[in-house]
Amino acid sequence: MMASVPNDDTAWAAVLRRDRAFDGRFVTGVLTTGIYCRPSCAARHPLRENVRFYASGAEARATGLRACKRCMPDDVSRDEAAVLAAIDEIKQAEDAPSLTALADIAGYSPTHFQRVFKRATGLSPAAYARALREERARDALSAGESVTNAIYDAGYGSASRFYEDTKGRLGMTASAWRDGGAGVTIHWAVVKTSLGPMLVGATDKGVCRLSFNEDDSELARRFPKAELVEGGKDFERLLADVVASVEAPGDFAHIPLDVKGTAFQEACWKALRDIPAGETRTYADIAAAAGNPKAVRAAGSANARNNVAVLIPCHRVIRTGGDLGGYAYGLDIKRELLAREKN
Ligand SMILES: [Zn+2]
Repeated sequence: MMASVPNDDTAWAAVLRRDRAFDGRFVTGVLTTGIYCRPSCAARHPLRENVRFYASGAEARATGLRACKRCMPDDVSRDEAAVLAAIDEIKQAEDAPSLTALADIAGYSPTHFQRVFKRATGLSPAAYARALREERARDALSAGESVTNAIYDAGYGSASRFYEDTKGRLGMTASAWRDGGAGVTIHWAVVKTSLGPMLVGATDKGVCRLSFNEDDSELARRFPKAELVEGGKDFERLLADVVASVEAPGDFAHIPLDVKGTAFQEACWKALRDIPAGETRTYADIAAAAGNPKAVRAAGSANARNNVAVLIPCHRVIRTGGDLGGYAYGLDIKRELLAREKN
């Protein structure tokens, strides 16, 4: 399957923003240096007048250009093919294949293959296999299957393995996702911050809601069957930590989260957490980092479905071209969060 070559303006725009989604769709030849690059090459941009676009490395070589040693444009299709083959293998296998087995298929070393796979999908092969199984189980659950059937149909050998796999990532057990948080206790508080009143809700697994200008009625709407408890001793400690991260943005990777989404949404949320403080990305960047460069709209909707503002930093996504874009809690808060992180 070959995606079509974009027109020159689209291609040049992709080069200027170093868009990885275009890697493999064309190469950039630079007449003055005699080399060709992938669109995302990290090297300094050449002058537009010295650039020609080619559909493939072969076409560029035919005109006498050589491959860039920095971005290795000819490895793109080989990497892509290796990742697609591994995904196929993972989808079909009863048990998740080992990293070594997957690397062997591609003819790569395990370490190198892990890096290539992660760059393409945002996840290690093992995490990808887990996410895939969880997604299948969840799809089956929302289609109304029984929890046990859904778990077995998704390829888990036993229910206990399912719970073991999903523990720590998703917090709520399968029954709770299906049932509006039944059996789950959510501790909550509304605290004053310099950004306005902030709602924090957490299960015993981690923060499940962080928002501004909302109260517990929003929790009741999102988790209609959960038990809502204001305050709580363990919760107060977590709350203090959360407030500190909002007031003086620093490292909040250690704060546990209890969120659930599709495998792609969770990959997007992870990609958001990987953006260094003080930097911003576009939806296209997030889609690419989450493993599906074409799913730009889905990345936007994953952003909108984010339950935990700030800690899953959806405020770090702006429009291509630098416009701030939108924010669920108003642009003033987004602007302020970004300003704090820049310092
Ligand atoms: Zn290059």
